[in-house]
Amino acid sequence: MATLELKNLHAEVVEADEKILDGVDLQVNSGEIHALMGPNGSGKSTTAKVIAGHPAYEVTEGEVILTLDDEEYGEEIPEDKLSWNLLDLEPNERAALGVFLGFQYPAEIEGVTMVNFLRQALNAKLDEREELFEDEDEEEAEADEEDAGYDTSPMEGPADEGEVDVAEFQQILSEKMELLDMDEKFAQRYLNAGFSGGEKKQNEVLQAAILEPSIAVLDEIDSGLDIDRLQDVSNGINALRDEQGTGILQITHYQRILDYVEPDHVHVMLDGEIAMSGGAELAEKLEDKGYDWVREEVYEAA
Ligand code: ADP
Ligand code: MG
Ligand code: MG
Repeated sequence: MATLELKNLHAEVVEADEKILDGVDLQVNSGEIHALMGPNGSGKSTTAKVIAGHPAYEVTEGEVILTLDDEEYGEEIPEDKLSWNLLDLEPNERAALGVFLGFQYPAEIEGVTMVNFLRQALNAKLDEREELFEDEDEEEAEADEEDAGYDTSPMEGPADEGEVDVAEFQQILSEKMELLDMDEKFAQRYLNAGFSGGEKKQNEVLQAAILEPSIAVLDEIDSGLDIDRLQDVSNGINALRDEQGTGILQITHYQRILDYVEPDHVHVMLDGEIAMSGGAELAEKLEDKGYDWVREEVYEAA
């Protein structure tokens, strides 16, 4: 089981010196669905961006620890590489270790199909993983070889070792699209070919299915979806958990999606902290009583 742990996380906006996260504690395990709810401006998106390593935010206190399963993709992970402080890592390294942080939509790339984009994303992840897990002795040996003038990386031709070639990727893509009940034509479309809002959200789920993260952070994936598309996207999220064991941190302002993606745990964020946590019933209570009720409960108790 992999776990993502936020411990006493404090963060502020770099430019404005404005404190936003004020001691967030949260643990998401693979295979679990957590809903992170709260009013606008409470710090939900900032939490996602800090996990991702967004440069606009500075962490002033606390930790983000990712602990990996000791065996992933049938590959055994050395004991000294099981636990990572994500705050020490670049965004692409965090992603390579299995934390999925939403779809960076490269709207401006001309002439690239979804299928090629997704294959590149998978290969970039696999390459980065290989580097992160490479043991230091091997690294040194390779560096020595490079110094001695040997080029160990092929310039062109077939995919690098460990990379997924076009035919292999086609296979993976078909499986994932079947898992998500998506039309295969989707992947043949060009990135800049005007996906609707709902289609972009489905692409986000497809990307997560292909990258097989341990933990996926999905920020407002339900916003602006009509009911049919909400159901498709929800089925996809459930499949990520049920079929791939992905842990989901589902950030949402509204209770609606939780009718389709039933959370194991619900957390309410207020003023940059988790003010209250509970089970699925907490989301229903919020539907009735609103976030002001949480504020009253918390301040009364204090
Ligand atoms: P939520 O996603 O819960 O609606 P956010 O995390 O987006 O809330 O924002 C929390 C607070 O931090 C808001 O008051 C917002 O205006 C402020 N904030 C977030 N990012 C920035 C930023 N880059 N610059 C200035 N203020 C920001
Ligand atoms: Mg937000
Ligand atoms: Mg506070």
